[in-house]
Amino acid sequence: MAELSKMKGLAARDRELIQDAERMLGPEPNDMGFVKNLFWGNVREDLVFPYPETSPEETARCDQMLAALDDYLLHEHPAIEIDQEEEIPRWVVDKLFDLGVMGMIIPKEYGGQGMGVTSYNRVLERIGRTCASTSVLVSAHQSIGCKAIVLFGTEKQKKMWLPHLAKDWLSAFCLSEPNVGCDAGGQETRCEVSEDGAHYILNGEKKWSTSGALAQIFTVMAKQKIVNPKTGKETEKVTAIVCTPEMPGVHIFEKNRSKYGIRGTWQARLRFENAKAPRENLLHIEGKGLSVALTCLNFGRCTLSAGVIGAAKGAADQAIKWTRTRHQFKRPLSDFELVKLRIARMSALNYAADAVLYMTTGVLDNNHPDLMLETALCKVFCSEMGWQVINDAMQVMGGESYMTENEIERAFRDSRIYLIVEGANEVMQSFVFGYGAKQLAEQMLAVQEAVGWDNEQAMGENLARIIRNGLRPSVMKLAIPLGLEVMLGWRKSVPVLTRLHGSLDDRAKRFCALVREHSHQFKVESRRHAEKILDRQAVQARIADNAMWLYAMACSLSRFDRQIRQGEDGVEFERDKTACMHFLDLAEVKIRRNFVAMTDNADESMRTAAQAAIAVSDSQPNNLFIIPECSPVAAGTGRTPPTAGVRQFPGNDTTLKTKTRSPGAATSGAP
Ligand SMILES: Cc1cc2nc3c(=O)[nH]c(=O)nc-3n(C[C@H](O)[C@H](O)[C@H](O)COP(=O)(O)OP(=O)(O)OC[C@H]3O[C@@H](n4cnc5c(N)ncnc54)[C@H](O)[C@@H]3O)c2cc1C
Repeated sequence: MAELSKMKGLAARDRELIQDAERMLGPEPNDMGFVKNLFWGNVREDLVFPYPETSPEETARCDQMLAALDDYLLHEHPAIEIDQEEEIPRWVVDKLFDLGVMGMIIPKEYGGQGMGVTSYNRVLERIGRTCASTSVLVSAHQSIGCKAIVLFGTEKQKKMWLPHLAKDWLSAFCLSEPNVGCDAGGQETRCEVSEDGAHYILNGEKKWSTSGALAQIFTVMAKQKIVNPKTGKETEKVTAIVCTPEMPGVHIFEKNRSKYGIRGTWQARLRFENAKAPRENLLHIEGKGLSVALTCLNFGRCTLSAGVIGAAKGAADQAIKWTRTRHQFKRPLSDFELVKLRIARMSALNYAADAVLYMTTGVLDNNHPDLMLETALCKVFCSEMGWQVINDAMQVMGGESYMTENEIERAFRDSRIYLIVEGANEVMQSFVFGYGAKQLAEQMLAVQEAVGWDNEQAMGENLARIIRNGLRPSVMKLAIPLGLEVMLGWRKSVPVLTRLHGSLDDRAKRFCALVREHSHQFKVESRRHAEKILDRQAVQARIADNAMWLYAMACSLSRFDRQIRQGEDGVEFERDKTACMHFLDLAEVKIRRNFVAMTDNADESMRTAAQAAIAVSDSQPNNLFIIPECSPVAAGTGRTPPTAGVRQFPGNDTTLKTKTRSPGAATSGAP
C-alpha cells in the first residue's frame, strides 16, 4: 500500500491518521484482470508470468497440423486468384475441412480436434500470412459461428450441429444491420414466440454476415420483449437464435458486394420476414444474446489479431530481404538509417504483437473470468501494429510494393479492415477506458460523495473538514490517499515485478514506474475533467492507449523472460532480444508523450476545427454525397452510388432491400 505516512511536512496527527488509513485499506482488486489492475497502479504478475504455454501433447498435434497446412499453403493455395476473382473456391474450403482446420476448436467428441485457442491462433496466423480472405473465412466460421454453440449450446444442440460444422458445414454470425454497426445493442431485428409456443418469429434485416450466403447455419441476434418475473416489467433484450437458410421467411437477397480487401470473403445481406425458427434453436437464455455475442467476440478478436500478425510477419520478412538486395545510390537500401528505422520498427512491433496475442490466447485458454479488456487491447494493438508494419513494408519496397504479384499490396488492402470490424478501434479505446477504470472511478466517486469533497476547495480545507467530521475510517482510508494524489500530486508507491529474469531488472523498474504514473494520470485527469471526461474521447484514448502500451510491454517482457529461461541463442534470439528492447523503448516514449499530452495537447483547436469543417459539410447539399441508407436524418437524400463497372454477384436481388429505420425516426430534415 501507499507510503503516504512518509510524506514530508505532515503534522504528527495527520501522519498517524494516514498510517491508520494505510493499515485499514481494503483488499486490492485481486480478482480483476491484468489491465484493470494497471488503472489501480498494480501489476498482477501472477497473470502474465510465466508466459503461457500449451501442453506438449497439444503443441505436437498442432505442429503436425501446421506442417500439413504449410505444405498446402505453399503449393496449392490460390491466394492471388481468390483475391482477383473475389471468391474462395469450395475445394479450398473442403481442403481446410480435410486438414481439420475448420473443426479445430470443436471438442473431439463432436468430431473436432478439441484444441485450445492458442493452437487455433497459431493456425490462423499461418493462414493469415498467405491469404487474409481465408483466415477471415476460418475465423468467422469458428470464432463466432462454432464457438457460440460450443460454449452456449445444449447437449442436444451440440450433437445436432457440431459434427457437421467440423466436417462440411460453414457457419455465420448475423449481428450487424443496416442501422446497427458499432452500436451492437441497437438491434432492430425483432423476435417473438409464436402463439403455439413452438417457434420464434423473426422480422428484420441483417447486413455483412461473412459467409452468410454460403453457410448452412447462422446465429442471429434479435431483440425480444422479456418480462421480468419478479417485477412484471417488460424490457427489450437481445436473444441469440440459430437459423438455417431454408427456414420459411429467410431471404438471402444479397450474397456479396465487391470490396477493397479480403475480397475472397463474402458478406451476405439477409431479410427475415416472419421467419420461423424452432424454439429449440435458442442459444443460451432468452435475453442473453449480447453476452453470447460478446463472449464470442473475445475469441474473434484474437483470431483477427492472429490473421493480421501472420500477414505483418510475412510482409516484414519480404521487405527486409528486399532492402538487402535492392541497391540504390550504390548501396543496399538497408544501409540507410531511415530504412533501418522501419526495419527495426517492423521487427519490434511484430515481436510485441506476437507476445500480446499468445499471452491473450493463454489467458483465454486458462479461462480467466476478467479478460474482455485483454482481448479488446489485443485486437486494437495487433490491428494497429500490423497495419503499421505492412505500411512500413510497402514503403521500403517502393514502387514494386504496388505490383500485384509481389503480394504486399494485397496484404495492405486486406489488413485495413481489421481496424474497423469486431469493435472499431475508437470504440475499443472508449471501452478500455470506461470498463478498465470503472471500479476505480466508482470508488473515487463514492469517496468524493461520502466525504463531500469539493474540487474547488484547497486540499487542506477538504482534509480539515473530513477529519473534523470524523468520518468512518473505511472512507477516510480511501479518501486521504486519493485526495493527496489528485490534489497534491502525491503518488502511491511503485509496484514491483519479482518474477522477471534478473537480467531485466532495469526494464522491470522502468515498466513499474510507468504503471504507477498511468494510475496517477488517470486519477488526475478524472478530477480535471470531472463528468466531462465521459465526452472527452481524446483524453480517454490517451489513457486507453497507455493501458495498451503497458499491456504490450508486460507481454513482451514475459515472452522474452521465457526465451532467456529456455536458454535460446543464435541470430533469431538476438533479433528477438533487440526487437523486444526496441519495442520497450518505443512504448515508453509513446506513454511518456501521452502523459505530457494530458495537459499539452491540441484538443481545444481540434474541437473547433472539427466543428468548422462540419459546418461546411452541413452547407453542402446531400445529393452530392453518398449518404447512409438508413440515416435517421437524411435517408434517401444522397446521390445514388454508381454500380456500373462494379462487379455484381449472382443471386443478388437488391430490389428486396428495405429501409430499416428506428420506429419514428425522421427520414429527412438534415441539410
Ligand atoms: C468485410 C466485413 C465483414 C464483416 N463481417 C461481419 C459478420 O460476419 N457479422 C456481422 O454481424 N457483421 C460483420 N461486419 C460488420 C462489422 O462488424 C461492422 O462494419 C462494424 O461493426 C462497424 O460498423 P459500421 O461499419 O456500421 O460502422 P459505424 O458504426 O457506422 O462506425 C463508423 C466509424 O465511426 C466511428 N465510431 C463509431 N462509433 C463510435 C464511437 N462510439 N466513438 C468513436 N468513434 C466511433 C469509428 O471510426 C467507426 O469506424 C463485417 C463488415 C465488413 C466490412
